Amino acid sequence: MSSASDIAATKDLLVKANRILANEGVVDDFGHVSARSPEDPGRYFISCAISPARVTAADIYEYELDGMPIADLEGRRSYSERAIHGAIYEARPDVMAVCHHHSGAMVAFASSTVPLRPVFHLGAVLGHEVPVWDSHTEFGDTSLLVDDMDKARSLARALGPHSVALLRRHGAVVAGASVKQVVFSAIYSADNATAQARMIAMGGDISYLTTGEIDQAAALNLSPAGIDRSWPNRCARAGLKAD
Ligand code: MN
Repeated sequence: MSSASDIAATKDLLVKANRILANEGVVDDFGHVSARSPEDPGRYFISCAISPARVTAADIYEYELDGMPIADLEGRRSYSERAIHGAIYEARPDVMAVCHHHSGAMVAFASSTVPLRPVFHLGAVLGHEVPVWDSHTEFGDTSLLVDDMDKARSLARALGPHSVALLRRHGAVVAGASVKQVVFSAIYSADNATAQARMIAMGGDISYLTTGEIDQAAALNLSPAGIDRSWPNRCARAGLKAD
């Protein structure tokens, strides 16, 4: 494939990822998903500042990791929180896609002291630990938006080698090795949060996955057996053709 078709394919995946995550209620008016450039690891693609359900290929722009757009946006606005994406790509060479969102399921854990942990096999996408980053610790009172590289790099340090992090009083970030993986992990991490919150409300003892179960279930979930089953279904649910 030529690089032009690589980039077209990346934009097509990103459009689908935006539509799927909106359709599944992970993102709403806000939230965004990005992909590292297949051509230049120092750049990424993300929509300009519109809601994910409305994103088309024409809305996707390329940025340097520090948040500078490559092309003129011709008066359109960039997401102020695009810094999150650049800082995670900067810190994590293994990460090829990032999602940031404020789904209610994740916010419940982001703003409480209850640790978010896998409670069913598909929730193993959370991994062994979900770090919680509090902007107030380093930056004091803010609008809560992660709107500059200093804050975003602080968040990326908190994420460390993990796949999911919570932002206190704000939301979540999900990082992964591909756009499809990030969509899968964003959906099932939120499903896990919903299920775990219900279990807490029910009372009784929660049966969390063991360390070994997390490893084995995550490996299976994120293999083609998991992702290639999920992606065409999530496309269909969103009214999209998978390819
Ligand atoms: Mn946000």
